[in-house]
Amino acid sequence: MHRSNLIKPLLDSTYPVATKGEGIYLYDDSGKKYIDGCSGAVTANLGHGNEVIIEAISQQLKKVAFTYRSQFTNEPAEKLAELLCKMTGELYPWTFLVNSGSEAIETAIKLAIQHWQEKGRPQKNKIISRWISYHGITNGALSVSGHPIRREKFLNMLGESSMIEAPYCYRCPFGKAFPECGLQCARQLDTILGRIGSDQIAAFIAEPIIGAAGAAITPPEGYYELIKEICDRHNILLISDEVMTGCFRTGKMLASDHWEVRPDIICLGKGLGAGYTPIGAVIVTDEIIDPILKGSNIIMSGHTMSANPLSAAGALAVLEILSSEQSVESITEKITYFHNLIDQLKGKFDFIGDIRGKGLLIGIEFVQNRALKTPYPRGAQFTETLIKTAKNNGLLLYPASSGTDGRNGDAIILSPPLITTEDEMDEMYRLLVKSFEAMEATLSK
Ligand code: PLP
Repeated sequence: MHRSNLIKPLLDSTYPVATKGEGIYLYDDSGKKYIDGCSGAVTANLGHGNEVIIEAISQQLKKVAFTYRSQFTNEPAEKLAELLCKMTGELYPWTFLVNSGSEAIETAIKLAIQHWQEKGRPQKNKIISRWISYHGITNGALSVSGHPIRREKFLNMLGESSMIEAPYCYRCPFGKAFPECGLQCARQLDTILGRIGSDQIAAFIAEPIIGAAGAAITPPEGYYELIKEICDRHNILLISDEVMTGCFRTGKMLASDHWEVRPDIICLGKGLGAGYTPIGAVIVTDEIIDPILKGSNIIMSGHTMSANPLSAAGALAVLEILSSEQSVESITEKITYFHNLIDQLKGKFDFIGDIRGKGLLIGIEFVQNRALKTPYPRGAQFTETLIKTAKNNGLLLYPASSGTDGRNGDAIILSPPLITTEDEMDEMYRLLVKSFEAMEATLSK
């Protein structure tokens, strides 16, 4: 057998070769068809092979594929920034384009620190984040990620970061229940800031709904609003990591919109390019940029491929499709349909501990004992086996950490493309149930 020279996530595993993508389906070189039940890594929000996006990128490719940002601007990047501003209610007139979610987070952190520096507060340069979070794989982003497994090999390289508890109601870190808890998880930020002061703190960073590290952990009502209020009161910025939740994944342009929270800095990635081009964005208010504009007049970050015309052309086409009224309405209908479908799983399988999420971002957490909420022991490989079984059945699922200790396992994310029809959702549900039944049969042996 030919030995592959390409390093893939699991070095000793073989992967099917993807040869075609069409709508919500992917095909491999044996002709096998898969439903993309998770949009890859919650990315291919408009499915595969969208002709409008392909055409937009092709047209740009024929005009100019690359311009360097210190020499030129380009039309798609300018239009994309303008559209992002419109889609976020004109509150964010500034967009910085990068190539991935991790780069967006790096830039956001640097922007926050630079903002305070240019305001004459250079000591305000630390970030507070949360346990149970994933903000990216680069060192700055990983430093603020509460994801033990992804951090552990690189601890000596990571910057120091204070972390507070996440709003993980299924396993409340304070052993309480909402609403009697009084949102203690949010108030912990207040307590920490009260204790150490905010003189050295530039920003608090959070995913409005926790993705890879917590399988769609969704905060209770009032949480995100309270977090913003605490940040404002202590004069620190709120960086909202909407890399996974942005661009209508949860039914609105931003997940923060569900709670009418206006963060100071917003990071986008994944669904912005919808898998057609690598792109991320940092969008910010005038208040953040003003001191920099009046000061050094330069953002101390950027990449060779920042504001790349091809990436921008793809993302522009994606946002034009998503921003149409028709599309927003149809996503809202699909969300209701999908939630009704997934609700049928409740009580059906003993190993389903929790079903959570918003919009088309659903997390399912698995437990060995439902009454005691006991996680599967390390090495039980429940999620890995489920994912393999589902893949054999022609359904792709995204493995996520349940939040218990940061390992992959114990949870999955279901995040079908936003274009999935009701019939396709039914088909997806049937394959999911078939895969769960196979797991049940294995467990009862
Ligand atoms: N932020 C969140 C919330 C993410 O889910 C991810 C990726 O999973 C990232 C940041 C990092 O994005 P990327 O993998 O594109 O660098």
